[in-house]
Amino acid sequence: MNVVLLGPPGAGKGTQAERLIEKYGLVQVATGDMFRAALSQRTPMGLEAKKYMDSGSLVPDEVVEGLVEERLAGDDVAGGFILDGFPRNAHQAEALDRILSESGRALDLVLNIVVDPEVLVKRLTGRRVCRDCGGNYHMVFGPPEVEGQCSCGGELYQRDDDNEETVRNRLEVYRDQTQPLIDFYRPSGKLVDIDGSRSPDEVFADVASAVDRAGSAGVA
Ligand code: ADP
Ligand code: ADP
Ligand code: ZN
Repeated sequence: MNVVLLGPPGAGKGTQAERLIEKYGLVQVATGDMFRAALSQRTPMGLEAKKYMDSGSLVPDEVVEGLVEERLAGDDVAGGFILDGFPRNAHQAEALDRILSESGRALDLVLNIVVDPEVLVKRLTGRRVCRDCGGNYHMVFGPPEVEGQCSCGGELYQRDDDNEETVRNRLEVYRDQTQPLIDFYRPSGKLVDIDGSRSPDEVFADVASAVDRAGSAGVA
């Protein structure tokens, strides 16, 4: 099962990916996480990506596409992957088609998680992330049991780009460049709209049933 999570920043892609990993054993490929990992190791790519991430604009296509192509060649993703945060524009969507067809693979499902923009601002500015395991919390919608601390014991921090100004820019970039991918994928019949405004459990119930339907369609 090869899945793309489409949806604006803050829609809950990472939150739902965590549950998909647990239930279906899929491997998450999250380009934002990969850039943040590269940055924390101070690699040239990480330092380059930071310039774009800080303003909320997109890292250049050739950088992201190269990274994804390399990652999707890994043995561990042969059993299925969840792409989280890629593709983010038409060029990247075409690159993904090429990467998959060259390796005899295809997408099974594109989940379009829909959430109102004003809710997204609240979700992103209140987001806290674990330094150790990458787990997601929210100051109001899903606070940790112990303040500032993940259930794994790791320290929670606020991402540099989760400030209101950068968030607004990211939402604009989404609207201009990523949202058009809904029309790119719709004709394939693989796109499923998910109402992401409900609780994480309610959203996941719809996500899981879409995965189950796509899985049985693939077997038939
Ligand atoms: P969010 O989870 O809030 O949507 P991400 O962690 O996916 O954010 O992305 C953070 C930043 O990393 C983006 O604002 C962008 O600068 C960069 N980035 C991540 N994925 C891509 C991509 N596919 N193309 C270009 N830039 C990307
Ligand atoms: P994305 O990966 O799409 O940027 P995240 O999964 O990181 O989004 O979620 C953004 C923020 O919203 C996080 O703080 C997360 O805890 C919170 N969140 C995720 N899903 C929901 C939901 N269904 N209801 C309320 N808050 C949510
Ligand atoms: Zn943790």
